[in-house]
Amino acid sequence: MYSGLVKSAYIISAILFICSLVGLSKHNTSKQGNFFGIVGMIIALIITIMMQKILYNTFLIFTAMVIGGLIGIFLSRKIEMTKMPELIAILHSFVGLAAVLVGINSYLNLSPDISSLINNNIHLIEIFVGVFIGAITFTGSLVAFCKLSGKINSRPLALPHYHKLNCLMLVISFFLLLCFINTNDLILQIISLTIMTFIAFLFGGQVVLSISGADMPVIVSMLNSYSGWAAAASGFALSNDLLIITGSLVGSSGAILSFIMCKAMNRSFINVILGGLHNNIIDIKKENIKGTYREISIEEITDFLKNSSSVIIVPGYGMAVAQAQHSVAKITQKLQSLGIKVLFAIHPVAGRLPGHMNVLLAEARVPYDIVLEMDEINNNFINTDIVLVIGANDTVNPAAQEDPNSPISGMPVLEVWKAKNVIIFKRSMSSGYAGVNNPLFLKDNTYMLFGDAKITTDSILKLI
Ligand code: NDP
Repeated sequence: MYSGLVKSAYIISAILFICSLVGLSKHNTSKQGNFFGIVGMIIALIITIMMQKILYNTFLIFTAMVIGGLIGIFLSRKIEMTKMPELIAILHSFVGLAAVLVGINSYLNLSPDISSLINNNIHLIEIFVGVFIGAITFTGSLVAFCKLSGKINSRPLALPHYHKLNCLMLVISFFLLLCFINTNDLILQIISLTIMTFIAFLFGGQVVLSISGADMPVIVSMLNSYSGWAAAASGFALSNDLLIITGSLVGSSGAILSFIMCKAMNRSFINVILGGLHNNIIDIKKENIKGTYREISIEEITDFLKNSSSVIIVPGYGMAVAQAQHSVAKITQKLQSLGIKVLFAIHPVAGRLPGHMNVLLAEARVPYDIVLEMDEINNNFINTDIVLVIGANDTVNPAAQEDPNSPISGMPVLEVWKAKNVIIFKRSMSSGYAGVNNPLFLKDNTYMLFGDAKITTDSILKLI
């Protein structure tokens, strides 16, 4: 009866997780999706705690949950929206480390199934693969955290001959797996597992270090996917069906998201998964673009806006940093009340997180129906009077189309330069995350408005 209860609870949780993913795929059902996820997780936790036969274990799990929960509440209250990607990266690293520890623990507690060599080998493979994926996820996510938080430069930093080195590490790991499952010598097994763990640590860190800034969005969602597979592997090691289901859901949805992002950025999926195996390493240094550009004042922008009939707003990472979304939403309302048509253009990798801009605009209560994706809006720029580019840079860089030698060459971008006038809100002439100069700033129809986006948008709001 007890196992029946556990199975039913797991099935209910799994269904709730699937409903959660469905809900989260649309703006207007996302709150519901979140709710389903929370309920599913609460059921899963209660059942897992109830399954413990030893009271002391229940006490330990409960204590760990309280400590972890308190740290989680503290972090989520303190963390700013702009620091969210780093937080997610570090959380992925915890999943990876947990998978390594679960795998090693599972190996140490392994009682060999002498009756079935196949079962025994399958279990050893599960442990080995789980530790391998977990270790890659751990160091990969740590490096991603350092890159996203600016602790490490976002430009690609690859070891010499890194293509060959990556292949060598994979081949050695495969031989270690063969050694791990084909020997009865305990010492040899432990040595194989330990060496592979260190190789996987090195591999994960090295792969993410060699990724260029422009490919980071894909690698973040790829690490999300890896963390899911690491959790699924832990599920196999622990023989926990719900962990297998949940891990597979995260793993496959992360892989699908990465695939969609690769398409949006015109990158090869295989290339990015294998850590930019065929990337040309270009030494990018963040520097100011040189040339003649035109500045514009707040008063001039206000006049421009009042005399226009159509405006498109392009938000980017700088809007998130400045927390200017509320002022931007109020400017939108004022312009609409003057009879001016206003639309928002969202690039798939704007900001530092998939859907980053959508979240900010939703927070500022910008109606969903005026927020359009890149493919829906790119043809509208040509008939638009003014484009306000608020803290976006790489996502509006014409070099992606005009310069075949640019590191972002081929990446689809918002074609803002086709509008009659483009106004750029930023603080300096410096480049964006990818470290690539932006010739848009020097175009004839472009005007620069320097300053923190919150201050400049507030000033415009006062004047309109
Ligand atoms: P960018 O990073 O290209 O540019 C942001 C711009 O905002 C900078 O040029 C900066 O210029 C400006 N800025 C920063 N702070 C402020 C402020 N307070 N007020 C006004 N302006 C400010 O942003 P995009 O959104 O266009 O592009 C996103 C980039 O991030 C892409 O390269 C993408 O590949 C990468 N990325 C995206 C991820 C995702 O999942 N979406 C994840 C990881 C990376 P200045 O300093 O002069 O003010």
